[in-house]
Amino acid sequence: MSHGMRVKNMIKCILKTSDLIKERQTELLDIGFVPTMGNLHQGHISLLHEALKEFKTVYFSIFVNPKQFGPSEDFNRYPRTLERDIELIENTLIHFPDSKVIIYAPENPDEVFPKDRHQVISVNGLSTVLEGKIRPGHFDGVATVVYRLFDIIKPSKAYFGLKDYQQYLVIKQMVNDLALPIKIQGMPIIREIEGLALSSRNQYLTAEQKSTSLLLFNTLSIIKNIIDQKRVNIPKANSFITETLKDPNWNYLEIRDSETFSEDISHSKNITILAVYQMGSTRLLDNMQVEVQ
Ligand code: AMP
Repeated sequence: MSHGMRVKNMIKCILKTSDLIKERQTELLDIGFVPTMGNLHQGHISLLHEALKEFKTVYFSIFVNPKQFGPSEDFNRYPRTLERDIELIENTLIHFPDSKVIIYAPENPDEVFPKDRHQVISVNGLSTVLEGKIRPGHFDGVATVVYRLFDIIKPSKAYFGLKDYQQYLVIKQMVNDLALPIKIQGMPIIREIEGLALSSRNQYLTAEQKSTSLLLFNTLSIIKNIIDQKRVNIPKANSFITETLKDPNWNYLEIRDSETFSEDISHSKNITILAVYQMGSTRLLDNMQVEVQ
């Protein structure tokens, strides 16, 4: 198929860091960057799409980062589907015939973290609450890999999903703390029609768990509706949250300031309701933002 061939020419998949650095040196223009762990879905593709709207060359990493998984987490069974991922990227690139995507897909973690590099990036404060409290070291793993990828790829702008809202804040804080010349763009959560946020981990769910999982989106929606953009309604929302948390499957369900991540939302203009619901061995993570007056 000639069209397919043409598109294929616009994609390079690089496995070795030394090759990636060489490739990067040939690029004169600014580039956009989308970091992922692969097993792509429309959430990831929405980031790529936005990056391609802004940059002729987009670097796209696919790397299951061992540093962000706890010892009893799903690192080994995390789905790895590189061939299919490349096809999805190709299909997106059809809409951008003059653009190119460089995929960086190191299989061996030593490519990303050479044995003689011991650096750990830790963003104070944000990294040890909520998700970070339940998954100690997780955000250090995230910040460390993203810093390393930024250092190798040197993008002008990087795209992150607001699905992982706390991660997005950690990365923004890291960029600020280290004064990195990189813009961080948060992108809207892509959901299934019924509301479940797309996630590579959704495929762990049985059909029954999947239908129960709507509880997460529905609960966030109810809280958002209770608040109804009015600060006076927050106590009512808090009572509802207290009642909801009687179900022990909630890892957390909390309201925080969208910018500072503070629990004190008495002066907040925008708040985020963040939750994780435990569905068997799978943790479903989601959030919803509400403006308040
Ligand atoms: P992951 O491969 O899960 O590490 O995700 C890579 C990037 O895709 C992160 O910035 C995520 O926040 C983003 N992402 C994952 N799921 C979604 C979604 N449903 N909607 C928007 N962005 C997403």
